[in-house]
Amino acid sequence: MKAEVEMGNVVNKTPSRLWNAMHRYNPDAEQTVAVSGEGSWFTDENGKKYLDGVSGLWCLNLGYGRQEIVDAAAEQMKKLSYFPLTMSHQPAIDLADKISDLLGANYQTFFSNSGSEANETAFKVVRQYHHQTGNPGKYKFISRYRGYHGSTLGALSATAQANRRVKYDPGVPGFLHVYPPYSYRSIFGGEAEESDLKAAQMLEEMINWEGEETVAAFIMEPFISGGGVIVPSTKYIQRVTDICKKHNVLLIMDEVVSGYGRTGKMFGFMHAEGVQPDIVTMAKGLTSGYLPLGATAVKSEIYDAFTKEGKDNHLRHVSTYGGHPAACAVALKNIEIIERENIVERVRNLGKKKLGKLHQLIGHENVGEVRQIGFLLGLEMVADKRSKIPLNELKMAGIIGKCKQEGLIIGKNGDTVPGQNNVLIVAPPLTSTEDDLDFIVETLS
Ligand code: PLP
Repeated sequence: MKAEVEMGNVVNKTPSRLWNAMHRYNPDAEQTVAVSGEGSWFTDENGKKYLDGVSGLWCLNLGYGRQEIVDAAAEQMKKLSYFPLTMSHQPAIDLADKISDLLGANYQTFFSNSGSEANETAFKVVRQYHHQTGNPGKYKFISRYRGYHGSTLGALSATAQANRRVKYDPGVPGFLHVYPPYSYRSIFGGEAEESDLKAAQMLEEMINWEGEETVAAFIMEPFISGGGVIVPSTKYIQRVTDICKKHNVLLIMDEVVSGYGRTGKMFGFMHAEGVQPDIVTMAKGLTSGYLPLGATAVKSEIYDAFTKEGKDNHLRHVSTYGGHPAACAVALKNIEIIERENIVERVRNLGKKKLGKLHQLIGHENVGEVRQIGFLLGLEMVADKRSKIPLNELKMAGIIGKCKQEGLIIGKNGDTVPGQNNVLIVAPPLTSTEDDLDFIVETLS
């Protein structure tokens, strides 16, 4: 087996001094060094072009090489190259306002550098909030199996994927997991929506059994991405929101992947009418990957608890680079383009009209289920439809390797049997042309 592409990441030639993310050591691997990119395509050092069907790590929402974004960063760097958010700067103030507008309610935003940090920040905010509102015993976090929330120890403790945690456990105490709304392999039975609602019920059971006075928050992606693209009924999202409200359990919506248009709404939770999370975390599409930036947006009612007079009542949390002026300027330009070019509507339309053609692959004997929301699509690969045994690693790698040979980068994840990734991932830049999308469908088919 030649180069292995996991999550479609681009790695350097071995041997080198670079320690690549997620790569199994393979001295014979022929690896890819990217040198330039434009639109949905990047070029390697040999001049070969690839369509980046996973948007880097699902972050390049506006694709490679947008001059306007590069200029916004350069102009800001010339004006104010760095400034800490222990004080303020205008791009961060403007961006926090914009995020609140986009979320459709009053939110106060704390900036960091990544999705993991955005979630870590949320966990600290939640625990401190409960302390300052008379519930110091509320410290437990509930997340879902298959959910991914980041690589740092707290975020990893919320991440319930066996292959990411083995040899790193124990994690941070106080993190519990419930079964996700995964109807394809439902342990609950029933039709998809019924199974999803039973998964929601499991959250309430857990809160009751643990004692609501101990449970601080529930963290979820509206659509599990790294755990195999799971698209529940929107009623599931509404139901867990209601359960959280009923038990004074804060709802943290991890929009790191699903934010900024990927699913055909500005934020994934907006597919579910009436849902307004207590905290929304974001990164990736916030800057389309042009510079690192994470954000934790907190409902103003929660923020109020941090504004009261008293020792240690303020959030004692700081990030040297979080909310870097250039990153905030890039985010503002990124959002301006998303709005100006109607990217969210584009994703809704072309997701159906073009990427949606991949649903035809359900006719193939090894495709167990095709799950899609906007420009986020997963093909659950099985040995055969009846047994649903996950397609083996070698065959998965073979498909990904063949696509790469043909110039298409796709990824895999899922962790269906712990450690076994049998879901093929397609998540191209939201600006992909119709020809690009046709190329993806044809190559994969
Ligand atoms: N949350 C989700 C849903 C993610 O998919 C990721 C990364 O893939 C993260 C959080 C962590 O983001 P980062 O890699 O920027 O720390």
